[in-house]
Amino acid sequence: MTLVELQEWVAQAGEKSFRATQAFEWVYGKGVHSFDAMSNMGKELREKFKASFAFPVLKLLKTLHSEDGETIKFLWELLDGKLVESVLIMSRDRRTVCISCQVGCPARCAFCASGKEGLLRNLTVAEIVEQVLHIDRFLKEKGERVCHLVFMGMGEPMENYDAVVKSIQIFNAPEAFHISQRRITVSTVGVVEGIRKLADEELKVNLVLSLHAPNQHIRKKIIPYARRYPLEEVLDAMEEYSCKTHRDITYEYTLIAGINDQIDHAKELARLLQQKQCTVNLIPYNPVLNLNLSRPSKERIETFRAILEEADITTTWRYTKGKDIAAACGQLALQKADTLI
Ligand code: SF4
Repeated sequence: MTLVELQEWVAQAGEKSFRATQAFEWVYGKGVHSFDAMSNMGKELREKFKASFAFPVLKLLKTLHSEDGETIKFLWELLDGKLVESVLIMSRDRRTVCISCQVGCPARCAFCASGKEGLLRNLTVAEIVEQVLHIDRFLKEKGERVCHLVFMGMGEPMENYDAVVKSIQIFNAPEAFHISQRRITVSTVGVVEGIRKLADEELKVNLVLSLHAPNQHIRKKIIPYARRYPLEEVLDAMEEYSCKTHRDITYEYTLIAGINDQIDHAKELARLLQQKQCTVNLIPYNPVLNLNLSRPSKERIETFRAILEEADITTTWRYTKGKDIAAACGQLALQKADTLI
């Protein structure tokens, strides 16, 4: 529940509204996992909470640490036995959690492990929030906190819109995680109505488009959702988001050898994005088991980047972290599911 929802629940239970704030502070601020630990609440109120709420909803099955120590992958089991994963990325003083919002993904992008099985189900708000809650507790033991969030794990956030927006409200609430909207990023494959709806929310989170192609023809080949949402419409919706929220737009472009990494593709991409206030994040493809795709050479990636920079397009190059622990979204859950079958 968001704080407002919990305040309503508390009022209906015949209690004062500040009890909701107290519960929020216990769960998110102090990180307790039991109602009995909420020592400033009477027994009667604690019993009311116990009768209606439960935690936790995620069971930690496995953690994998990358060799460089900068990435930890968490594999969770949900109450119905389904599996999802989150990734903690630690770079310098930044602690970023990459969150999943669905089990599997309906978008079925050709290069992605999460989309391989399609959508199994949406995650609830609790299942989304608890990924961060657990990782925040883990960091607190080392005197650190989660400070950045990215919805780039399993699932398409716009296809679980209400739960994603509610979880952002909880992450942002001062009584909960107090993570600023500027430090929260939602990544979409280009669900036009979702982008437009998000532009009208009271949230000014960063929005990233998984572009991955310089034109509609290639995009349709690797992103089945592109058949439903033509590139031109998607780019218009992104511009609208940028205008309404005053946030710059980031376009993610996964470079896949022989598919979208040619010099002509770089030139076409430069033409497509010229005059736009944006950054292009180039991501060398992180190979996924049983998908016959590979990463371009370092030289090819550098050439691609140089063409964009010559056209005055700001680029960043995210060399995929955690390659040794299958850190691309969905890979661990898929491997584990394979071994469970
Ligand atoms: S890349 Fe993102 S949108 Fe595409 S299948 Fe994977 S999780 Fe879904």
